[in-house]
Amino acid sequence: MGRPTERRGDRPTIVADQGGDVAFDGVDFMAFDSLLSEEERLTRDTVRQFVEDEVLPIIADHFQKGKFPAHLLPQMAELGLFGANLKGYGAAGVNNVAYGLMMQELERGDSGIRSFASVQGGLVMYPIHTFGSEAQKRRYLPELVSARLVGCYGLTEADAGSDPGSMRTHAVADGTSYILNGSKMWITNGSIADVAIVWAKLDGIVHGFIVERDTRGFETREIDNKFSLRASVTSELFFDDCRIPKENLLPHTAGLKSALMCLTQARYGIAWGAIGAAMGCYEEARSYAGERIQFGQPIAGFQLTQQKLALMLTEITKAQFMTLQLGRLKDAGKARHFHVSMAKRNNVYWALEIARMARELLGASGIVDEYHAMRHALNLESVKTYEGTHEVHTLILGEHITGIAAYGGRQ
Ligand SMILES: Cc1cc2nc3c(=O)[nH]c(=O)nc-3n(C[C@H](O)[C@H](O)[C@H](O)COP(=O)(O)OP(=O)(O)OC[C@H]3O[C@@H](n4cnc5c(N)ncnc54)[C@H](O)[C@@H]3O)c2cc1C
Repeated sequence: MGRPTERRGDRPTIVADQGGDVAFDGVDFMAFDSLLSEEERLTRDTVRQFVEDEVLPIIADHFQKGKFPAHLLPQMAELGLFGANLKGYGAAGVNNVAYGLMMQELERGDSGIRSFASVQGGLVMYPIHTFGSEAQKRRYLPELVSARLVGCYGLTEADAGSDPGSMRTHAVADGTSYILNGSKMWITNGSIADVAIVWAKLDGIVHGFIVERDTRGFETREIDNKFSLRASVTSELFFDDCRIPKENLLPHTAGLKSALMCLTQARYGIAWGAIGAAMGCYEEARSYAGERIQFGQPIAGFQLTQQKLALMLTEITKAQFMTLQLGRLKDAGKARHFHVSMAKRNNVYWALEIARMARELLGASGIVDEYHAMRHALNLESVKTYEGTHEVHTLILGEHITGIAAYGGRQ
């Protein structure tokens, strides 16, 4: 797992191997790779190289400037990263483990880049693929695969977060149209989206609607004062007598369950993505600790440092095996939403802990953008909140274990 380092000023910096090799070897303490097929390994390594070459060199700058690196989209599309685990309509059609490994590698780059892919694939293409008409699939999916169209997913509202069933956005039938009114909050890709999957109540039942960017009565506003996911676009959506054709209803959605099925897709990718962020932080901390001399020896030689590194490696290893098994279950059609909750809850929790520990091990150097740990930690604060907060996933597991729902008053 040795990785070359060079010194910039008095700080060791991880650099790519000469000759275009992938500098990051991954974290593989218990022969995890031996459980992957050659195709899965190759897929992962291809995305790893992309992240090494294209994401890591630019991401700190984009994060600091609060700018999404949209120039990466054509290459990401070329790599088949959007909706990669879906079949047909130009999607890569890889298995769920290969898809998960793609998300892992993207998030080693930045949670914001992985968020884009999760939204485009899991929250926009998946609902069209699963709940859409054949005409909708033909019209939108190839465009979304190639990122010629960007999508967003509007479920959350200012007053309806963990409890999306309390949403106020609603649709009313009017001749050959539906008229949408309401607003959505915290929507990834919102201001750059060409097409929005919007969840709204029609006769009291939640349905999904496709809203195109230039529809009259549809506006977006970017939320630009974030400390987290700064290289990702987050926006508000507004619908003011927004008239859409009736063909834009996703015909097979019926109730909140359909919206939650999309979240299960995206959460699966997040569970893998968090491992990528954790791996990046662990490797950065391990490498730094080997180089940084205090009290006449590398800080890696202190017991307290070793305790941190041992904990990081243990949690990464546990997460890898749980998430791989989840992927195998998903490929066998046996993964349930509570399995995904366990992996999302656990992996994001530990990724954030690992990012914080890594930042700590880097000392003062850990607060500057030459290192990745603090950016990961800031991002993971959002990842812990979105797609079901840590607490909500605890409650999903609690309900599964006990048979008693403990979400609160209105259930
Ligand atoms: C960067 C970012 C991007 C996002 N992207 C999207 C997107 O693309 N599309 C989208 O629809 N949404 C998106 N979201 C919204 C996200 O899904 C919500 O923030 C999340 O569901 C939590 O809702 P909330 O923020 O309103 O918190 P609240 O629901 O108000 O929760 C506040 C706190 O109360 C806790 N809590 C709530 N209910 C309970 C309970 N029953 N028991 C115990 N504790 C509870 C929560 O765990 C949390 O700690 C995004 C959010 C962020 C930060």
